Amino acid sequence: MEQGGEQSSPAVLRSSHRPARAWLAGLARIGAALGVLAGLALGLGARRVDQAHGPASIDVVLVVIDTLRARNVSLYGYERRTTPNLEALARDGVTWDAAITPGTWTVPAHGAIFTGLMPSFHGAERVKGETLLTTPLNPEVRTLAEILGEHGWQTGAFIGNTTYVTSLLGFDRGFERFSVNEYRVSAKEIVEDGLAWFAAAKTPAFLFVNIVDPHEPYAPPPPFNERFPGRSADIHGEPREILGRSAARTPAALEHFRALYDGDVAFADWGLGELLAGLRRLGRYRDTLIVVTSDHGEHFGENDIVGHGKGGFEPLLHVPLVVKYPADREAGARVARRVSTIGIFGTILAEVGILPPAGVAGTPLDVPHPVVLEDINAEGQRFIVAYQGDRKILWRIDPTRGDPARQDMRVYDLVDDPAEAKPLPPASAPGLERHLRAFAARPRPINSAPAPVIDAERERALRRLGYVE
Ligand SMILES: [Zn+2]
Repeated sequence: MEQGGEQSSPAVLRSSHRPARAWLAGLARIGAALGVLAGLALGLGARRVDQAHGPASIDVVLVVIDTLRARNVSLYGYERRTTPNLEALARDGVTWDAAITPGTWTVPAHGAIFTGLMPSFHGAERVKGETLLTTPLNPEVRTLAEILGEHGWQTGAFIGNTTYVTSLLGFDRGFERFSVNEYRVSAKEIVEDGLAWFAAAKTPAFLFVNIVDPHEPYAPPPPFNERFPGRSADIHGEPREILGRSAARTPAALEHFRALYDGDVAFADWGLGELLAGLRRLGRYRDTLIVVTSDHGEHFGENDIVGHGKGGFEPLLHVPLVVKYPADREAGARVARRVSTIGIFGTILAEVGILPPAGVAGTPLDVPHPVVLEDINAEGQRFIVAYQGDRKILWRIDPTRGDPARQDMRVYDLVDDPAEAKPLPPASAPGLERHLRAFAARPRPINSAPAPVIDAERERALRRLGYVE
C-alpha cells in the first residue's frame, strides 16, 4: 500500500466535482510524492480546489458486519437470500465485487478501516507468539473519528463485538459516544441505540456500527434460527470443536453450521434494514454517505481451516462492500476491480472534502491501488498476501526458521484454482513476488503502546467467542 507519502498536515478542500478527483487534485497541488498516485492525478487532470469553504456537511454511517464472508451473501450470488437489505442499499449505491480485507481478524482489520493504514503501520496487531495479547492502535496515528470530530462531526460508535472493538485497544479514540455493554450485543440493540443517538445528533454526524451476529457462537434468534434448512438436533458443540477435526467434518455437520451461520447473516442484514429504515424515517437517508462492509470472512473447513484469524485464503479475505454516496450517486453500479477495504478511510475523507493526515495515502476506493493483506498468527508467523490480476501470492514468514527471504511463498491462480489447493512456485509470478518483497521491506513505525493485560473476565469472553481453543 502507499503509506509513505509525505503530505502537509490535514487540510480541507472542497470541489463541486467528484470528491475523489478533488482529493487527487489536492494531492497534485501540494506536490505529494506518491509515485503512481501522482501519475493518476495527472491522468485525471486538475480539478478546481476551493480552500475557502470548509468540508462538506455530510452525515456518514459506517457499518461493519463482523465475520461476514462474501460467498454467503446473496448480493454476490449466494443461492440463499441472506441479504435482501444489503441488496436494496446496493441498488442506491456502488457494489464492489472483489473487496479484500487488509487483516484476517477483528483487531487488525478494524484498525485499518479506522486509520487507512495497514496493520503493521497502525499497530493494532497480535503480539508475536501470543494467542490473545494484542497491542492497541499506535497513539501517533489518527483515526477517522478523530479527524471528523476535529472538523465538526458529532461522533458515535455502537459496538456488538465488545471483546475486541474496545477502548483498551484504542478503538474509542475520537468518538464522543462509544457504546460497549456486554460481551456481545445483538444487531437489534445495536441498531436501536445507534439510531437513537443519530436522531439526536445534528448534521454532520458520524455513526459507526459493528454488528457481530455472524461471529461464533452461531446462534440466530427466532425466526432466523429456522430461516434456512440443515440444522441437526444431533450436533452439539462449537464449530471449531467439530469442523476443526476433519473426521467430524461430515456433510451433515457442515450443513448444520451453514444453516445457523446463514441465519445469523440474515439477522444481521435485518438489523441493517432497520438502520436504513430509521435513516429514511429521519429524512437522512438520501444525502448520507453509507458504507457497509465486513472486517473479515470465515472458514468452514475450506483449506483445512475453521473460523478466522489464520491463513490467507479467499473465504476469509473476500468481504462484501457497498458504498451509497449522497444523492444516490452512481446508483446500482458494480465494480469488478479488486480493492482493499483500507480505501474506505480515504473514500469517506474524499467525499467530505478533508485531506488525509500526514503519512497516510488515504487512497479512495475508486482510485486503483495495491491490494495487500498482512497478519501475525498465534505461532508468531507473519503472513503477507498480495494480488495482481487473477493471481495472488501468500508468504508465510517464520521468524524462528532463519532467512525469511527463502521461506514459504506460494502463488495461486484464482481462476484456474478457485479452491486455492494447487500452489504454484513464486517464479510463476515474478512481478507479484517483487511487489510482496517491497511491501515487506518497508520500515514500520514503532508502536510504543503496551498490550493491555488479559484479565479473567476478558479471557472468559474470548473463550465464548472461540479465540481460546
Ligand atoms: Zn471480526
